[in-house]
Amino acid sequence: SAFAYAPAPESRSVVDIAPSYGLFIDGEFSDAADGRVFKTVSPSSEEVLSEVAQAGEADVDRAVRAARKAFASWSALPGSERAKYLFRIARIVQERSRELAVLESLDNGKPIRETRDADLPLVAAHFFYYAGWADKLAHAGFGPAPRPLGVAGQVIPWNFPLLMLAWKIAPALATGNTVVLKPAETTPLSALFFADICRQAGLPKGVVNILPGYGDAGAALVAHEGVDKVAFTGSTAVGKQIARTVAGGSKKLTLELGGKGANIVFDDAPIDQAVEGIVNGIFFNQGQVCCAGSRLLVQESVADEVLDALKRRLSTLRVGDPLDKNTDIGAINSAEQLARITALAEAGEAEGAERWSPACELPSAGYWFAPTLFTGVTQAHRVAREEIFGPVLSVLTFRTPAEAVEKANNTPYGLSAGIWTEKGSRILSVANQLRAGVVWANTFNKFDPTSPFGGYKESGFGREGGRHGLEAYLDV
Ligand code: NAD
Repeated sequence: SAFAYAPAPESRSVVDIAPSYGLFIDGEFSDAADGRVFKTVSPSSEEVLSEVAQAGEADVDRAVRAARKAFASWSALPGSERAKYLFRIARIVQERSRELAVLESLDNGKPIRETRDADLPLVAAHFFYYAGWADKLAHAGFGPAPRPLGVAGQVIPWNFPLLMLAWKIAPALATGNTVVLKPAETTPLSALFFADICRQAGLPKGVVNILPGYGDAGAALVAHEGVDKVAFTGSTAVGKQIARTVAGGSKKLTLELGGKGANIVFDDAPIDQAVEGIVNGIFFNQGQVCCAGSRLLVQESVADEVLDALKRRLSTLRVGDPLDKNTDIGAINSAEQLARITALAEAGEAEGAERWSPACELPSAGYWFAPTLFTGVTQAHRVAREEIFGPVLSVLTFRTPAEAVEKANNTPYGLSAGIWTEKGSRILSVANQLRAGVVWANTFNKFDPTSPFGGYKESGFGREGGRHGLEAYLDV
């Protein structure tokens, strides 16, 4: 062929992973009070990457105290001074982005093309964007002197480890809050590298504290009386538990939870472009995306054409080594997540939907799931109702725009949706009827720090990103 293009996998050697890491509290790395540690493994190979200190209640307490102590001087800094730190962090992220992209692909399992081209550029963009706000808060429409809340307790998931950290930490610091953040147990490493970046940027001690650990550490952080604001991204079940904990006190709360997004393809849509959007919508990050387009609603008259094109496209996707630049689909983040996806796909078959995957060979070690389509799906099927959080697309059909809207909204979630049509008027009328926090038109999974993001219904409340993202960290 014209292209004998087979570049070597992105070199593992660009990242130096230490055999062990501590908790990051008050500017120092230290052991957990009770000495507990846990291992973090690479989901694409099951190789142990490092052993990480596991935070418990005593560590949460120490971190919250450090954040409280740092709050007095951090919140008193002029916004222009806080901005300098955030700009510095953004620049260091850019300088170290190759290293961080490889690290994230190793610890999470996602393809290097995504960490390199999506996660890392967006991480830097969030710090640049909120750095820009730090000295303009008096002009943000919140009154002349909005105040920071205090100590923010932040708990994040494993699907975009460093990007979720950026979504949480950048607006918190820009507005003068200090932070205690707990990364997910399967992906602690990029947050610990970020702790090192905070030191490199000269960020004052205690302004950012990072506590790797499990759900018990998250629960202790959420419940700690020294925390003024809780920000959580994760499952709806845990989000509800957190809401109950917080309901007893005076903390502010934002929740970013699950989704079951509909990608709606009308008969006048440009089919090739729509197919690319459908593929990106559900197979980006192996479908482990809260706003994934996990339900395809396609107008009956073009359903066969769209499905044929979709199957042809899926047959070209490459599943494999996340560090290979040609990989489209990487590993599933954990054995637990793989088991959840497998169980729901089996339920789809048992309930009578038709399952299809392209021929593809999966690596023998690690956690893998082939791209999967379900056709003949009805709204009663579990694969149409429950969040799978994996590379599984459920296909349903509709006849009229009204039926499309009715089906798209027939879910307890309300995070995202997509519309594919040439008609601008239809985009506007359908978007206005959808109960979803973000509606994309003729595109999908587009993110930008200037846009607020968040859910309706069981997808949570509060907005992150944009000017609205500042509001969650300010008393007005
Ligand atoms: P999860 O809710 O189990 O875990 C998320 C985080 O919460 C982890 O850090 C975990 O250790 C911690 N945690 C667990 N139990 C806790 C408790 N009782 N109190 C406090 N913290 C606790 O979810 P997950 O399996 O890691 O992530 C997948 C889910 O997250 C999916 O349902 C997905 O839709 C959702 N998600 C939503 C968004 C969004 O922006 N809306 C983004 C990413 C992921």
